[in-house]
Order: sequence, then C-alpha cells, then structure tokens
Amino acid sequence: MKKKIAIIGAGIAGVSAALRLHKRGYAVTVYEKNSYIGGKMNQFVQDGYRWDTGPSVFTLPHLLVELYELYGKKTEDYMMYEKQEHSCFYFFNDGTTFTFYTDLDKLAKEAETKLGVRPEVMLDYLAACKEKYEVVGTMFLENPIHKISLLPWDKVRKALPFLITGGIFKSLDALNKRDLKDEKLIKLFNRYATYNGSNPYEASSILSMIAHLDQTIGTFYPKGGMRRIVGGLYDLAQEQEIDFLLNQTIESCKRVGNQYEIKSNGDLQKFDKVVSAIDHLQFYKHILKDEKLYKKYKKQERSASAFIFYWGMNQSFEALDLHNIFFSKDYKEEFHTIFKDLEVPMDPTIYINITSKCDPEDAPAGGENWFVMVNVPAGKVFSPALTAKLRAAIITKLEKALKRPVESAIVTEKTWFPEKIAQDTGSYMGALYGAAQNTKTAAITRHPNHSTTYKDLYFCGGTVHPGGGVPVSIQSAKIVDKLIEHEH
Ligand SMILES: Cc1cc2nc3c(=O)[nH]c(=O)nc-3n(C[C@H](O)[C@H](O)[C@H](O)COP(=O)(O)OP(=O)(O)OC[C@H]3O[C@@H](n4cnc5c(N)ncnc54)[C@H](O)[C@@H]3O)c2cc1C
Repeated sequence: MKKKIAIIGAGIAGVSAALRLHKRGYAVTVYEKNSYIGGKMNQFVQDGYRWDTGPSVFTLPHLLVELYELYGKKTEDYMMYEKQEHSCFYFFNDGTTFTFYTDLDKLAKEAETKLGVRPEVMLDYLAACKEKYEVVGTMFLENPIHKISLLPWDKVRKALPFLITGGIFKSLDALNKRDLKDEKLIKLFNRYATYNGSNPYEASSILSMIAHLDQTIGTFYPKGGMRRIVGGLYDLAQEQEIDFLLNQTIESCKRVGNQYEIKSNGDLQKFDKVVSAIDHLQFYKHILKDEKLYKKYKKQERSASAFIFYWGMNQSFEALDLHNIFFSKDYKEEFHTIFKDLEVPMDPTIYINITSKCDPEDAPAGGENWFVMVNVPAGKVFSPALTAKLRAAIITKLEKALKRPVESAIVTEKTWFPEKIAQDTGSYMGALYGAAQNTKTAAITRHPNHSTTYKDLYFCGGTVHPGGGVPVSIQSAKIVDKLIEHEH
C-alpha cells in the first residue's frame, strides 16, 4: 500500500510539493483552508479590472519547467511566459528616471547616460553578483543546508571561503557603497533586500546575488498574470488526480505511534508523513500546538508586510511600465521607520505593477489595473485615518513625479493590508516572507525544511529555508522531496 502524506496549505509551495511527492509514489492529500488554491498568489476581478493579489515579479522560470518535465509535459501547454526587456522603471525624487534593462550593455549605457557612472562599474558589480550566485547561491538554494549528511561538500568547500572574503559580514548597503559609489545606484541595488522583506542597512551583502537573477537571468511575465503560475501547476495536479481538499482548516496534528493524526473540520485522518506548507509559526502555535518551538522561532524578527491599493484607472500612463518604483527621498530613514519605529513611512518607496501593459484585457479599453504597494511593518494595524493619510501621501508623490492627476483617474479600488493578509493566507502578522534576513547569519538560522524534534515532519514555503518569494518557495518543495527521498 502507498504511504500517505498530508500537505498543509495549497499555496505555490504546497502545490509544488504535492506534484513532487505524488511522482515519488506517495498518496498525497493537500489540505487548504480557503475555497481556492494559491494562497498569496491569488487574483480577483472588480468592475472589469483583474489584479494579481500578491507576487508580481517572476524570476527563475526553469523551476516551473522542471515540474512539468517531471510528468513529461510541456510548460507551454499550461502557461506561457516571456522575458522582459526591462525589469523595472525607476523614478528618483529629483526627477531622474532610470530604466533597468535586462540587456547588460544597454544597462551599463543607461547608468553612464543617466547617472554618469562608468560602464565598468556596473559590469564589474554584476559580474561579482553572478559569481556569488553561482558559488554560494546555487549551493544554498538547492540544498537542505541543515542536514549535514546531504550537504554537497565540494560546493560547501568552495562557498565557505567565498562567503567570508565575499562579505557575508558586510551589509548590502555597505557593499553597494564600496562598489557602486553613486548614490542612486546604491539605492537601486539596496532595493534587492526588499525581495525578501529585509532591511538593506542590516541584511547581509550576500543578497546582492538577487540582482543577478533580476538582471542577468532576467524577469519574466506569465501570460494571464502571476496567478497562472500556480493555476498551471494546479491543472497538472488535477490531471494526476492528486487529492486537494478545499475549505479545510487544519485544527490539529498529533504524532500518535508511527503516524500523524490530522484533524480538520472535525474529521480525523492518519498519515505517515506531514509537510507543513504554511507559515511555520502558525503551524507550531495552532496546529502542532508546540509552544516551545513556537516561542523559539517567534523570537526572529518578522520581514516587512505591505499595504496594497488596487486601483482601476480610467486612463493609461505612457511613462509607466509593467514594474515601476518611485523611491523615497531618504531610503535609510524609510527602513528605520519600518523596522525600528514599527511605523508607516509617510514618504514611502512606491511600487506599481500594471499587468494590463502586457495583458490589455486586464483593464477596460483605455484603462490600467494598478497594483500600488508600499512596505509597512508586519502586524501594523491600520485605522481608517491612517489608511487615508497613507493614500493621500502616495497620491501626492505620484502626481508630483508623473506631473499629471492620478486621484481623479481612479474609478475602482480595493485594499490589502497586514491584518487581512494574515487572515487570508495564515501568514503570521501578515509578514510577506516569514522571518526577516536582517542579521548576517539569518540565512543559516532560518527554519529548516525538516523537523529536528518530530520524525517525518517537513516544512516548505516562503517562511522556511531557503527563503521567501515564489521561486524560492518552489525550490523549498524540491528540497523537501530530496529529504524524503533520502529517508525513504
Ligand atoms: C503583497 C505581496 C507581494 C509579493 N511580491 C512578491 C514578488 O513580487 N515576487 C515573489 O517571488 N514573491 C512575492 N511575494 C511573496 C510570495 O507571494 C510568497 O513567498 C509565496 O507566494 C509563498 O508561497 P507559500 O506557498 O509558501 O505560502 P502561501 O501563499 O501563503 O500559501 C499558504 C497556504 O496555506 C493555507 N493555510 C494557512 N493555514 C492553514 C491551515 N491551518 N489549514 C489549511 N490551510 C492553511 C493558506 O490559506 C494558503 O493558501 C509577495 C507576497 C505578497 C503578499
């Protein structure tokens, strides 16, 4: 008889884990509390506009391709994606604009023309990011680093000296100051810390390897929006008749003998192994009910959360692209406000994602679907007055930068904020990426992919190793599969 595995949570990590473990021959049951799969990667339609709810930047598509290939399928039969010519349009406070080209020579030229930075500065910096990714990044992202017996020692031996000399103990900001010097470029490359909700003035410079993913490997757009990423995988899982149980909030998970008893909606089922694909703090607190482990991991600082305004615009804005960033004047102060004061910055860096630039049907003719996001502290409670103040600050800043009215173009609106993100996705305090990476050793102290206390218990998703974000969550499912393969 097939061994039984329960996966808790049908976000991108849970769906990826289900595909891998089903292929390995397990009888997989996925429990999802919502009536829909996808977790943070959801979508909604309002007044003729479509929005992705959460993630919008898509990198490392080969991780998806691998999942389709596992079943001998072609990715394009489930989803289409295309590489972007630019990963982002940047707007600085003094009116400078900067296009982040994915073509290296064009990017270096842009830095020379707009910022007066010699091309070699940019090229040398990105070459170093590439080396960091190849020597350290792949070793770290592809392996269960907390399982000594499965470490690829040849790679570790190469990575360790590199980590020490390559600046693991330096902050991302310090590295960028040393190597880029130009104030605007420093800001631009400091931003990569926010890809996992961290503070560039504290997080390790090792995060600079993210720039390599964004630039050299490139950013991609999935036709139909980000939702298609998880939607395509779910279609494949359905074809394989993997058991997905929706509207099932797991109430408890108990180790009884050699098995786990899982209780959901009053029903009790037994499994040989359990994979938590939800926020590990929620799992310890509300499902496993292990106060000791909950308290241990709760001590780690949370990553940032976000306030998102979904605005349906009745006009189009030629100055904007798929991804756009409007920097705050004082970037350091902004992170201090979020992580130290635990307050909402009133001159925030604003991110605008507009999928109707690539999928015109996402907005009525002549309009655009704006996803307007600013980072805020995890757990921050928004009163109507605070929301109104933030909204006004964002509109004032955008109108000044774009030199045209914004507020009058908004015809429909919805919001998402820490409390609601927590409620909808089960993320602790609404943090986007679990624990922050605001210490130099954060990558190592992040929650592992297996339990060292409970046998046959595994963890994947954006809150555990190797880190937050869509590609990394997919990768975490692959690591869990690797762990299970070796303990089979
Ligand atoms: C606003 C926002 C912007 C983001 N931007 C980006 C981006 O641009 N690029 C990027 O790569 N990443 C981004 N991220 C992060 C990315 O979305 C996550 O890292 C990733 O989606 C995490 O996937 P997951 O499967 O681990 O968790 P989730 O998507 O949170 O899924 C967890 C699932 O578990 C379910 N669940 C929770 N508790 C229970 C329970 N008790 N019983 C049963 N089911 C339960 C939830 O309902 C949910 O469906 C963003 C996130 C947000 C919110």
